[in-house]
Amino acid sequence: MLSRSIPCMWITFCLHLCCYVDSGEAQNAKEVILLDSKAQQTELEWISYPPNGWEEISGLDENYTPIRTYQVCQVMEPNQNNWLRTNWIEKGNAQRIFVELKFTLRDCNSLPGVVGTCKETFNLYYQETDSEVGRSLRENQYVKIDTIAADESFTQGDLGERKMKLNTEVRIIGPLSRRGFYLAFQDVGACIALVSVKVYYKKCWSIIENLATFPDTVTGSEFSSLVEVEGMCVSDAEEEADNSPKMHCSAEGEWLVPIGKCICKAGFHQKGDACEPCGRGFYKSSSQDLQCSRCPAHSFNDREGSWRCDCEDGYYRALSDPPSVACTRPPSAPQNLVYNINQTTVSLEWSPPADTGGRNDVTYRVICRRCSWEPEECVPCGPNVGYSPAQSGLVDTYVTIMDLLAHANYTFEVEAVNGVSDLSRTQRLFAAVSIATGQAGKRLNCVKVSEVIKEKVQQRSIQLSWQEPQQPNGVITEYEIKYYEKDQKDRIYSTVRSKSTSATVNNLKPSTAYVFQIRAFTEAGYGTYGPRLEITTKEEATAAIVSSEQNPVIIIAVVAVAGTIILVFMVFGFIIGRRHCGYSKADQEGDEELYFQFKFPGTKTYIDPETYEDPNRAVHQFAKELDASCIKIERVIGAGEFGEVCSGRLKLPGKRDVSVAIKTLKVGYTEKQRRDFLCEASIMGQFDHPNVVHLEGVVTRGKPVMIVIEYMENGSLDAFLRKHDGQFTVIQLVGMLRGIAAGMRYLSDMGYVHRDLAARNILVNSNLVCKVSDFGLSRVIDDDPEAVYTTTGGKIPVRWTAPEAIQYRKFTSASDVWSYGIVMWEVMSYGERPYWDMSNQDVIKAIEEGYRLPAPMDCPPGLHQLMLDCWQKDRAERPKFDQIVGILDKMIRNPNTLKTPVGTCTRPISPLLDQSTPDFTAFCSVGEWLEAIKMERYRDNFTAAGYSSLESVARMSIEDVMSLGITLVGHQKKIMSSIQTMRAQMLHLHGTGVQV
Ligand code: AMP
Repeated sequence: MLSRSIPCMWITFCLHLCCYVDSGEAQNAKEVILLDSKAQQTELEWISYPPNGWEEISGLDENYTPIRTYQVCQVMEPNQNNWLRTNWIEKGNAQRIFVELKFTLRDCNSLPGVVGTCKETFNLYYQETDSEVGRSLRENQYVKIDTIAADESFTQGDLGERKMKLNTEVRIIGPLSRRGFYLAFQDVGACIALVSVKVYYKKCWSIIENLATFPDTVTGSEFSSLVEVEGMCVSDAEEEADNSPKMHCSAEGEWLVPIGKCICKAGFHQKGDACEPCGRGFYKSSSQDLQCSRCPAHSFNDREGSWRCDCEDGYYRALSDPPSVACTRPPSAPQNLVYNINQTTVSLEWSPPADTGGRNDVTYRVICRRCSWEPEECVPCGPNVGYSPAQSGLVDTYVTIMDLLAHANYTFEVEAVNGVSDLSRTQRLFAAVSIATGQAGKRLNCVKVSEVIKEKVQQRSIQLSWQEPQQPNGVITEYEIKYYEKDQKDRIYSTVRSKSTSATVNNLKPSTAYVFQIRAFTEAGYGTYGPRLEITTKEEATAAIVSSEQNPVIIIAVVAVAGTIILVFMVFGFIIGRRHCGYSKADQEGDEELYFQFKFPGTKTYIDPETYEDPNRAVHQFAKELDASCIKIERVIGAGEFGEVCSGRLKLPGKRDVSVAIKTLKVGYTEKQRRDFLCEASIMGQFDHPNVVHLEGVVTRGKPVMIVIEYMENGSLDAFLRKHDGQFTVIQLVGMLRGIAAGMRYLSDMGYVHRDLAARNILVNSNLVCKVSDFGLSRVIDDDPEAVYTTTGGKIPVRWTAPEAIQYRKFTSASDVWSYGIVMWEVMSYGERPYWDMSNQDVIKAIEEGYRLPAPMDCPPGLHQLMLDCWQKDRAERPKFDQIVGILDKMIRNPNTLKTPVGTCTRPISPLLDQSTPDFTAFCSVGEWLEAIKMERYRDNFTAAGYSSLESVARMSIEDVMSLGITLVGHQKKIMSSIQTMRAQMLHLHGTGVQV
């Protein structure tokens, strides 16, 4: 009974103590409790073996809450072995189990008579199982955890003094592998009260750290192990790039070492452990940004959680613009656009736009359109036009546009653009100018008609058509079809002209092979002939025709008669009742007559206004009647025979206004004066050539009566040259002569004989383009101060006139050629008076005796030789204007021939025709040039590097050539030497240096 009475004595006290000790203990947040004996209110019903060993005893804690305890105190009996086993404890996820024991232990010394049997320790065991194993208890199935000794024990005497202490011991078991386990307590003869048993494991509780959620995590199995846990971003957050959030759960259930983080997505910002949307009027463009920002200028948003703000109407954001910059708009138009025109090159300059649209990436682009004169239709200029420094992306406020067609009407629009221009659908804002180019000047006509189609082949006629050449460097005004009989011994060429891209060649022989070649004419002259095309006419079908075929004389006669009839009909159709409009022009005869049959139907023929009975009809046939309100007279520039000559502006409806010269008929005129005055317009109105002064129209239905002509800024050529004595290069002078010759060729082709060709009757415009003028029928006698009465009765400008015209009034195109030779001399001597101060009589005499004007100072021998040819006594020996143009063209193409010093002016012209050095300036494209020097393999290299024009090639250095990837030294040298020659030729041709 002792054994029972002793425990009862101290357990009461013990319970008191236990309640005291446990009262302040809070549950550790990191622990997951599997078993807590104190928490159980009912009996624990653990297994106790033998039954008289451990005993379950109920008690109260300090809150009077009942608790369950086990006690044993068999200290008097030796060989004690009392087991107490808990119920089965399911371990869950735990790997490492903590067992906390609270107990009191009686000091053996305080118990009398227990020496030898009393113990002061007990043993702790466990057994792993996957399920409950029943209530039997087998010692050998238990694994010992430890022998538990009390840190504090108590004695009998302490009871009253309340000195007994509760022992707390914690032991750890694991790792465990089964689903659950039992704990067992072995008493071997101690006096123990097991106040509470708590079994738990530790875990790291779910946490939000750096906007990432880390879940509940059970600690690792080892004391030293850390469990790595990946965090999950909270909503509206995302992992920072390459920095995903991680934390480590320690064995003690603490989160350690956070790595990486989450950040709030675009449109959201962090508030505490969450991401909240940006408010209205705010945005956050990137997760990297910390805060939401207010919408930048000219933008807005009316929703929450925006990553950007929308632009206000009319404002845009370029693709490259970050959402943080203000919305912007296209710039306004450039200001103060001015231009400068030099033949076929136009320079444009402007000031920046008043409004850059809020951006600093304003550039400029130029849009070039070529417009027809009437009606004004415009087409893009295409790739043949060059822009320097570029067509678009211009940073500076200027551009030069090159390689425009001569005598063409262009419109240039300069647009300021910025990064948002292409996004805007609003109307484009630009500054625009319309410009008419001048003559191609010293550029050559490189046009080649290459695709010729035979449309219709008859016995005596062949109809041809062809494609307009791709890259004419001027407006093509006419085509010339040259042809000859293939098998003819003395090759005699005939020509037909056409203004369109088709022509019919008539008067051919049946069954005869003909060779055709076509060339195009621009203000720069004729281009090269295209390839030869051989066509055989059809066989003659009837006997009558066969017989005439055998006798070509008959055909020529028939053709001549037919031609003459047509001609007579056309030219002299109104001859009956003809009234003189002043001085009568010479008969159109000789070569010209013969020429008509070939010329027909290609070229227009000049009709003498005198052949009209009513001169008013003639003037309205050939000249446009202008409304006087369209003309604005500005100032008087000269005095003409019939009244003042003024300058002014002409503004026709729907067209841009142009500068004009206005010839007025003075008040109080006679009817004859009116008729004579308007005769000039009737003649001029028939001509349409860049080197013939152009008639805009007449005013006959109001007063004053006016003739409106294109304005020629530099006035008459003789005065102009005198003013600029010695200021032009030979090439420039030859260029002027070429223009005059081209104009005269046109007039002679029309069948018009000028009769008063002289430098004073040539007008010069601002581009140095020379144009033939002065077509008044009565001018020679009345107006020209140089005209004097001759023995033959007429009034003649002796110094300019061919001997046969002076002597017997034989005025022909050949006599115009004589005059042209004098104009050449005037030009090369800068307006010197022909034959100086010799009297007219002396001049006539000297010419008769074979004297001819010597070469002017610095005149190239070839040019003087051409003058001498024009002054051949026999007019049939003189060159035709066509030939003169050809010879001058050759000179221009081979400037070396114009360089020979004066002194040997007898050199024949023919060597000019021989070309040993290729004429690089005659090439139209880089490809053509490379082909000529057999380097076409590098065509792509030049193209890829942007060398698209010969001008750009001429500027290349050896480094440039090497940079194209041309590695062979031989090829580099060949290309470079060709470039140097080309550069020299251009230098002469343009009279200016090529900047290298
Ligand atoms: P005219 O009576 O036609 O010879 O003209 C007299 C003067 O007026 C000429 O010498 C020129 O200086 C000037 N003139 C005539 N036509 C034009 C024109 N189209 N452009 C400029 N000046 C002209």
